[in-house]
Amino acid sequence: MDGNYDVAAIRREFPILERKVNGFPLVYLDSAASAQKPRTVIETQREYLSHFHSNIHRGVHTLATQATEAFEGARETIKAHFNAAENAEIIFTAGATDGINLVAGTWGRANLTASSTVLMTRLEHHSNIVPWQILASEIGFKIEVIEIFPEGTIDLEDYNAKLALAPSLVCFSHVSNTLGTINDAKQLTSLAHDAGAMVMVDGAQAAPHMNVDLQDINCDFYVASGHKMYGPTGIGFLYGKRALLDAMPPWRGGGEMISSVSFDVPTTFNVPPYKFEAGTPHISGAIALGAAIKWMESVGLDNIAAHELALTKYAHEKLLQIEGLRIYGTAEHKAGVVSFLVEGIHPSDLGTLLDQLGIAVRTGHHCTEPLMDWYKIPGTVRASFGAYNTFDDVDALVAALERAIKMLK
Ligand code: PLP
Repeated sequence: MDGNYDVAAIRREFPILERKVNGFPLVYLDSAASAQKPRTVIETQREYLSHFHSNIHRGVHTLATQATEAFEGARETIKAHFNAAENAEIIFTAGATDGINLVAGTWGRANLTASSTVLMTRLEHHSNIVPWQILASEIGFKIEVIEIFPEGTIDLEDYNAKLALAPSLVCFSHVSNTLGTINDAKQLTSLAHDAGAMVMVDGAQAAPHMNVDLQDINCDFYVASGHKMYGPTGIGFLYGKRALLDAMPPWRGGGEMISSVSFDVPTTFNVPPYKFEAGTPHISGAIALGAAIKWMESVGLDNIAAHELALTKYAHEKLLQIEGLRIYGTAEHKAGVVSFLVEGIHPSDLGTLLDQLGIAVRTGHHCTEPLMDWYKIPGTVRASFGAYNTFDDVDALVAALERAIKMLK
């Protein structure tokens, strides 16, 4: 127990943490890729599937009403937790990637032209780069990259210089999945708005680790993934300001997103959020995501953030005692992500040996190839923390690394 943070009690809520991997107790240090699930999320999904599964919105029977209430209740939970102005601003998506593709495919296609410029940082995950590149190849707009400093922070001078190009849109991640840098989303948004640009924030790595207030940040779009917030895979949300969503054309066509369909007069579309939710959604996922958010709230995002920060500082201190180890991402404000390399050893060799000792880390470019190219490295080993990690996990990582390095050198 550190302070009032009862990590042992938290760990008991995660059945997967009881298992062994390759004969060793699992040390799960890959929450940035996907967080494990507490019992309440597993149970919520089971309860829905066992007792009130039905399609939503269209039915008059009891199960349909209960499923609809739970689904819309999850939307309300997201709206309240992230402080959106209204439920209509929360669109259920398959995840962060899906949300960004939605913005590119609707707002982007409707508003960007061949003479537009889109800014994005060098820190971006491929999911906040490639949808814009695909659209740029169709429309012909220009993508400009906001540069960073070696510790992984945004170069504000470069940002201001690029804002002078009068971009239509600025895209940035709230927290870098590779370096852990926490960007000042409110400041970056305000600068972009002053320059007349819209703002798309990738919150995939922020939402599980800190309180996020969307009206305070004042961004135009924000996306997050359920599975990184201790919820299921295949579910997430896009936040968009209501006036923008009202003006945007629909994305995927199908049931639920229409107001009326005809062969004789033009088909008309539903209001947000339904306009962007064609077809049967991931109902159990959405309901369980609501449970995951309530679980995070029960622990307290500020408590989770403080615990993960302590783990990160401890990990930095311990890892830097290993000869030849370099940490990538040393921003003053960083989340629980520690990327590193050991001189002369390929990250995937280290990752494989660590797995043999029960330690789950991620190796590779972490879907940030432009960032890896900039550092001139093939990738890193990345240890990332969740609410359930302990100082013992860090010690186990360090001990296993020392063993692995001896074997590989
Ligand atoms: N953005 C960031 C910063 C991420 O770390 C990830 C996933 O690792 C994504 C976007 C994509 O999330 P998803 O695969 O859940 O759509």
